[in-house]
This record gives sequence, structure tokens and C-alpha cells, in this order.
Amino acid sequence: MTRLVWVVVVATIGCASQRSTVAERVPLREGEVRVIAGAALDGGTRKGSFYEFQLPARSRSDHHRHPGPEFFYVVEGRASVCYDDGRVDHIAAGDGRYIPANVPHIDVNEEAVPVKVVVFLLLKPGEPPGFRAEETDQHAR
Ligand SMILES: [Zn+2]
Repeated sequence: MTRLVWVVVVATIGCASQRSTVAERVPLREGEVRVIAGAALDGGTRKGSFYEFQLPARSRSDHHRHPGPEFFYVVEGRASVCYDDGRVDHIAAGDGRYIPANVPHIDVNEEAVPVKVVVFLLLKPGEPPGFRAEETDQHAR
């Protein structure tokens, strides 16, 4: 019963086109999102960081948003980024997108193989990266 409710909840968020094919949500947690490099910028008023993560076959991230701008690059596989207004960006390996600060989105892998993604985030010191829905919610309070 819990499983059924969960699938229904997942099916009601994000891209309409992915609802029937992608049901497994993969929260991107510490340890699953690897920090490649980070540095304080602009005299310590901003922080730039590269992150890497994988989405397993036919899975999706949390519905989330980042407090700063995101530069999203697909290293391997094919990803879709789904926005609340219904837009869907399909991004092939070697291509990327800019996602403005605080724009909610879901990263989706519709393929049968994992997708590897590198993300660059520009944040203020102390801001959470925002990959998880809980971080997004906490930051909004
Ligand atoms: Zn994101």
C-alpha cells in the first residue's frame, strides 16, 4: 500500500511525458553527489562548485531547486530536465543547459543505461546545494 501511494505521488509531479515510464525516484544524497572541485569567489561572497552524479536507468531526481544558478552538463547517456511549467529539455551527452536560480526542476533518465551528469553551481557561503527536496524546503523557510 505504501509503495502504491508512493508511485502515485511520483506520477503526479514533473513531466507529463515521463509519468508512465519513469516511476523510480532517486534522491541525490550526500555520497551520491560527488564534489569535484569548489572554491570561494569574489572575496568569499560566492562559492563555485562542480558536482558529479549518476541517475540509474529509468529514474529521476527529487523535485528540487538550487539557490544559485546551475550549469548542467551531460557526460554520458541522455537526460531530460523537466520544469514546472511543462517545458522539457532533452540533453544528449556532450550538451548542457543553464538553469536559473530557484527554478524548480526534475532530472530524468528515461534510458535503459545510467546517465552521468556534471553540474556547476554558484552559491553564497552556507547555502545548501539544493539537490534534495528537503534542502529546497528548508531553504525556503
Ligand atoms: Zn538541479
